[in-house]
This record gives sequence, C-alpha cells and structure tokens, in this order.
Amino acid sequence: MARKKIIAGNWKMNKTPSETVKFIGELKPLVANDDVEVVLCVPAISIIPAIEAAKESNICIGAQCMHFEESGAYTGETSPAMLKDAGVKYVIVGHSERRVYFAVTDEIVNKKVKKAFEHDLIPIICCGETLTQRQQGITIDHIRQQIKISLLDVSAQNAKKAVIAYEPIWAIGTGKVATAEAAEEVCKAIRECIGEMYDQDTAEAIRILYGGSVTVDSAPELFSQPDIDGGLVGGASLKLDFGKIVNYKK
Ligand code: PEP
Repeated sequence: MARKKIIAGNWKMNKTPSETVKFIGELKPLVANDDVEVVLCVPAISIIPAIEAAKESNICIGAQCMHFEESGAYTGETSPAMLKDAGVKYVIVGHSERRVYFAVTDEIVNKKVKKAFEHDLIPIICCGETLTQRQQGITIDHIRQQIKISLLDVSAQNAKKAVIAYEPIWAIGTGKVATAEAAEEVCKAIRECIGEMYDQDTAEAIRILYGGSVTVDSAPELFSQPDIDGGLVGGASLKLDFGKIVNYKK
C-alpha cells in the first residue's frame, strides 16, 4: 500500500494562541488536499485553541514535546494523557533543539516513544547528524545508532505507525537545505535499518520525513524521492505559503 505523505509544521516557540487561531482560519482553505496528512505542531498553550480552530479541516494538531512519565512533580512539562485528552494525534520526540537545550538523549527519546504508543499518540522521532559528523563520514552510523536506540523494545506493530524525521542539524533553521540526493541517501538507509530491526513490511510501512530549511522551492524535489514521505517544516510553516508546500505536487 502506498504510504500517505505527511507535511508537518513545527512552529517551535512562535505565535500566541490568538495568532494561532487566526492563522489556522486562513490556512484551512489552502491545505484542503486529501492526498496529504497536514499536521501543525504548535506550542503546548495553543494546542486546545488550535484543535478548535482546525475543526472541519484536514489539519491535525500535534505537540512539540511530551514527558515520558504519567504525571507528577515535573514542573512545566506536559504528560501524554494530557495531550491525548486534548485531541492531539502526533507528538515530536527528540527534536535536535530539545536534545541540545534540554539534554534529551536517545535513551529519553526511547522512553518517550514507548509512552506515546501506550497513549495511542504517534511519535515523530527526529534524528540527524551535525556538520562535523557529516564531514567525518559518520552520518549513517550516527543515524542508525539514533534509530536503534529510539525504537528499542518497540513492537513491529507500533513501529509501522511511527514517523521518523531525518533532520540534519546543519540544515535546521540555517537556510542550507540538503540536496534531494543526500536526503534520499539517509532516508533510504533509515528504511534499511528498520528492515534489519524488524522486517520488510515494517520498513515499507514506516513514514520517513525530511526536515531542514524546506521551502516552497525545495519541497517538490525532496518529497518526490522514493524514501521521503513528506517533510517536517519549521520556519516555512509559519507563513501561509505553507499551503504551497502541502500542495507541492500541484
Ligand atoms: C525544524 O525545526 O524541525 C525545522 C526543520 O526547521 P526549519 O525548517 O526552519 O529548518
């Protein structure tokens, strides 16, 4: 079965709740495209108004992070049950900004991935190499390690539902997008790694996105690669032009 493309926006720490509602109202008619799953990962405070604003559209709302514990003394955090109850479907796990600024490790990513599945949330698991790792020729080794630890003890049934976002760190927010060839090489290697960890069925089912300075101009070639099933889009998802990225085929 063909994998349905996902175009997910990662708003990071941008837009107030009222700006969110206004923006989604304007975006709705621009992304009415049933061939693509459209996801907006908004700041936690905007999740509930965003879900309300996105009603009767094909936009679904995701979260940018989540704690791996059920509840407790974790000031400032959001639990998986809170996200589920609010109506969230996807949650970004292990974004490089969380890894760098908030000390999220591959082991923590693994705990979050397992907890997300327990709550019927779909993790968008981020991985990616630094510029130094790329220059040293260890990109694929590094990505394989991240994938293997992130999915440790995750069943094939759940792994099939997961989304992996390959996001080279040197490309995030820098305007330096990976070439379609370089992005495809890594996404293909990720699919092969999933095949080794599980089986061919799981490798064929899992969706792998590219992220890192995607724009209206770069999206069509990137998203047409055989192993790239869409994108995780930061800066360019904050503008209504995001609609053009969703409709990259038209
Ligand atoms: C991201 O934050 O996941 C991202 C890909 O950002 P940008 O598109 O701005 O590089």
